[in-house]
This record gives sequence, structure tokens and C-alpha cells, in this order.
Amino acid sequence: MAYIEPAPIKDKENPFESMMFRFHAAAEILGLDDETYEVLKSPSKQIIVNLPITMDDGKKVVFEGYRVIHSDTLGPSKGGIRYDMGVTLDEVKALAAWMTWKCAVVDIPYGGAKGGIRCNPREMSRGELERLTRAYTGAMYDTFGPDQDIPAPDMGTGPQEMAWLMDEYSKAHGKTINGVVTGKPLVLGGSLGRVEATGRGVMVSALVAMEKLKMNPAHSTCAVQGFGNVGNHAAVLLEDRGLKILGISDHTGAYWNDNGIDIRKAIRYREANNFTLEGFDGGEKISNEELLISEVDVLVPAAKEDVITIENAEKIKAKLIVEGANGPTSANADKIIYEKGIQVVPDILANAGGVTVSYFEWVQNRLGYKWTRERVNRRSDRILKEAFEKVFQATIDYNVSMRIASYIVAIRKVADTYNLRGCY
Ligand code: NAD
Repeated sequence: MAYIEPAPIKDKENPFESMMFRFHAAAEILGLDDETYEVLKSPSKQIIVNLPITMDDGKKVVFEGYRVIHSDTLGPSKGGIRYDMGVTLDEVKALAAWMTWKCAVVDIPYGGAKGGIRCNPREMSRGELERLTRAYTGAMYDTFGPDQDIPAPDMGTGPQEMAWLMDEYSKAHGKTINGVVTGKPLVLGGSLGRVEATGRGVMVSALVAMEKLKMNPAHSTCAVQGFGNVGNHAAVLLEDRGLKILGISDHTGAYWNDNGIDIRKAIRYREANNFTLEGFDGGEKISNEELLISEVDVLVPAAKEDVITIENAEKIKAKLIVEGANGPTSANADKIIYEKGIQVVPDILANAGGVTVSYFEWVQNRLGYKWTRERVNRRSDRILKEAFEKVFQATIDYNVSMRIASYIVAIRKVADTYNLRGCY
């Protein structure tokens, strides 16, 4: 397979540069004209808001929040909201563009967006988080909308934040509008299967990739970095398919067991322990860095971006990397991983199960109807398998890695739609 030289290696890449490098490489292969290139590369809207919040001790703290709409060419923009101290405009821009490419890869009628607030949700009370979420929603009344821009959970947010968001938005419009946000609790119009959807998509794409690589799940081992929404569901579903999960981790550290971690026990422990693995006794404590370079067949980075970089790529021993997180591999590390012959199922394909079931949630809200879990799972599994095959075919047609192939499939779809619609 051919490979395109990445940009000169710098000390530190940021996620936006990594995304742009891959976009550029795929656009060159596709021979995208200059006008379409310019349109697709630039976010269509970037919003920065300052949100003064009264904390529980009575003091006011100002939080900076962002929403970036990268594209609405394929339909209303879609993308999660992240609460994390590391949130920056550059990061949100990259994540918004990834949403455009992700929706296009799985062929759902959405553009891409992302939002974030720089905060530490683990140190905030429920009341503070509610006030922050409502203030952010208030600042985005004109941006959000079921036909305009539809948020969802991401790192540091979950169904409760989505419920507050829906309520605040609905109050402003004088009626319940549950299609404004996805990832809601079931009773508020959430979809069966949404909570585990991203992890399930990771499992489905891992199994298809293993089949292509002639790896037997029952004889394969795995490590999962990050044990939040994506990581814990991916781990348990992969364990159910026969893989032995030797290592798991979260922000407090990593846990390793040569006989396999009991994932259900780890999930119960995390739930009883304020959603962290700190003190988990089902494995020996190792560092997150050791986990990434451990002796396993399948590595699932499911925590955050830029964890596989030029610093550690050379030491990775897995045969297959399935990217549960967005942007876990830097563009410069791509080259090293590729030359080592490691197969990568890229983020915009591997973690697209979440947005696919978000789309189903929105469809159900608009229909005023509920699908069964079986229907949701069957349809999302099919969409992911079809997308995988399309990307795999592009690796053959264009002689490129899965990463560049996924961008080719996505950019081709958005560019064709843009050119058919014309400039408006
Ligand atoms: P989450 O907040 O539920 O979980 C994140 C997990 O990563 C937590 O266990 C946290 O402790 C851990 N973590 C944080 N920093 C870490 C570090 N340095 N080392 C190891 N672990 C660390 O978030 P999530 O929703 O599971 O999202 C994880 C990733 O998946 C993000 O990149 C997100 O953008 C992506 N993603 C999420 C969804 C979704 O539906 N939730 C969909 C697509 C992609």
C-alpha cells in the first residue's frame, strides 16, 4: 500500500493539524478542485461564549464555552459537547470537522459540529453542572435546533446534561422539543441502545477487521484505554465475543491481569466508586503509557486524542488498533504505525456507532415512536459493516491506509453533495 509523507515532524502536533493533514492527503488523491477544498476545510461558524456561573460557595466563576459548526452540507449539524479542562477552540474545530467526515462515512444526513466548555466536571457539584449546562444552552438558543444543530454527549457529559439542555431549550420555545438533542435519558425520548452504541460500533468494527486479518477473537487479547462510556461498553462487548481483555485504564491509572480482567466486575466497581477505577483490585496497577505499549493483539484507545504519538508509536505491539476515541493517533504517528504493519480502524469509522444511533434517536423523536433495542442494534450494525466495506474497498481502489481511505469516502460524499447543491 502506498503512503503519503506526512508534514514535517514537529515537537507537538495539535488535533486540528492532524485532521488537516489527513484531509489534505485525501483531497489531493481525490483531485479536489481549489474551490471545494477551501469550502470543505473551513468551519462555517465558530462561537465563543463566556458563561458566568454562581458556584455553591456563592462566588461567580466565568467559564469559556465553544460551539463550532464545521459543515451543514449534508443536513443539520451534529456533534457532542465536551466538558474538560483541556478544551480549546482548536480542539473543538478538529472535533467538529471529524463529525462532518464521520457522518459522511456512515452515510447519515448530518453535517458536523462540536461544542465544549473548559471546566472540570469531576470537581463540580450537580447544581453547578446544571447551571453551567443551562447557561451554555441559553447562549446557543439561536444555534441549536432539531433542523439546525443537534448536540449530544461527549467526554465529561452524559444523559443528565442532555436532559437539562432539552429542558432549557424547550422552555425558551414554549413546548417540548426533544429532537434538539440526542443521548437523552430513555424517559425523555432517548433511544434504546444509545448508551452502548459507540462501544458496540467499536466491537462491530473490531470483529470485521479481525475477520479480514484472519484473527480469531477467541484466541485474541485486548487492552482498552479509557473506561468511560465508550471504553467500558467496548470492553464488555469484546469480552462477550471471546476476546481476553488483559488491561483497562482510566485517568487514575491502568490495571493489568494476565488471566484477563473481569470486565463486569470492573464496571460494578467503577459505578460504586464515583465513576473511577482508582483502587480496583482485579488487576495489577501499571501506567497508562505501559498499557498502550503492552503485549496484546488488539488495542482500543477510548479516552482522548493524541495518546499514540511519535513518542510511543514505535513501541506499540498490537496488530490491530480500533480507535474508540476521536483522534487518539497523531498524523505523524500514523506513518510509524503504518510502516510497522499495524492495521488501524480509524476513529471516524470505528466510533461512528454513537452518531448512528443518535440519528436513530432523532428519527424516533420526529416519528413520535420508539424502536426496539433489536431494531436499533440490527440497523446500526448493518450501517457500520457497510461503511467498513466501503472504506476497505477504497484502500484497494486508491492503494492507501484505512485512515486515508475513510477520509476519501467522506470527502467524496460531502464534495459531491456540495457541488450538486451549488453555493447558496
Ligand atoms: P467519558 O468521559 O465517558 O470517558 C472518558 C474515559 O477516559 C474516562 O474513563 C476517563 O477516566 C478516561 N481518561 C481520561 N484521560 C485519560 C488518560 N489520560 N488516560 C487514560 N484514560 C483517561 O468519555 P467517552 O464518551 O467515553 O469518550 C471517550 C472518547 O470517545 C472521546 O475521544 C470522545 O470524543 C470519543 N467518542 C465518544 C462518543 C460517545 O458516544 N460517548 C462517540 C464517539 C466518540
